[in-house]
Amino acid sequence: MDRSFALIRPGGHHAFKDHGHGFCFTNNTSIMIKKALKKYDLDRVLLWDWDAHHFDGTQSIFYENKNVLTISTHQDGRTLFPGTGSIEENGKGKGRGYNMNIPLKPGSSDKAYLEVTEKILKPAAASFKPDLLVIQAGQDNHYTDPLTDLDLTAKGYARLMKKAVETAKKHCNSKTVSILGGGYGIEGGLPYTNLAVIAAMAKLDTSNIREPKKYEKPDLSKKLTETRRLINKIKQEHPFKFR
Ligand SMILES: [Zn+2]
Repeated sequence: MDRSFALIRPGGHHAFKDHGHGFCFTNNTSIMIKKALKKYDLDRVLLWDWDAHHFDGTQSIFYENKNVLTISTHQDGRTLFPGTGSIEENGKGKGRGYNMNIPLKPGSSDKAYLEVTEKILKPAAASFKPDLLVIQAGQDNHYTDPLTDLDLTAKGYARLMKKAVETAKKHCNSKTVSILGGGYGIEGGLPYTNLAVIAAMAKLDTSNIREPKKYEKPDLSKKLTETRRLINKIKQEHPFKFR
């Protein structure tokens, strides 16, 4: 099997090595990555945590580790729990440069995420050459989510996962493990986003993925100016990843 989606909860990305935090008691994603590195004798794992919240626990666990490139896209910490996740938090010691934070403004929506995927995730993967791609698939970016304001659509999620699948095909023989993270629109976005990402992972047709009907759709026509500015700043923080 090349690609798998673990429909379990939680991924646990707020849990630290020695204490729980923010709905998370144990950091299941980090435990899985450490186990995979050892059991399968891997050199490099790329984790993309696309949950709306910053992965503070996961970041702390791998902060000095150069074998795990940790990338978090999340809603800017000045507007959402846990408040961390600035672009300057980029690793320490041997792990310097191997932690990347991409704090996005509320309302960023599909276009901004796709731009980040093209301009950050893909070149970073090309430089890092992972053996395994892990996705902490937080579905709480959807526009119906009651806790967050990032305004992604289910179709947008399908497109993100397609990009992830392409990236894994190119760099790690398609080896991908995705683990469900947050997602609090239980009767809203969650079933739609889960269907979207699972279909995209299975390479099924996603053209009929739709949005929940009774919610107002976000404005998808916003300009990318702020996101592009952020991407340029991140590239300066991580120069060797983008040569
Ligand atoms: Zn979350």
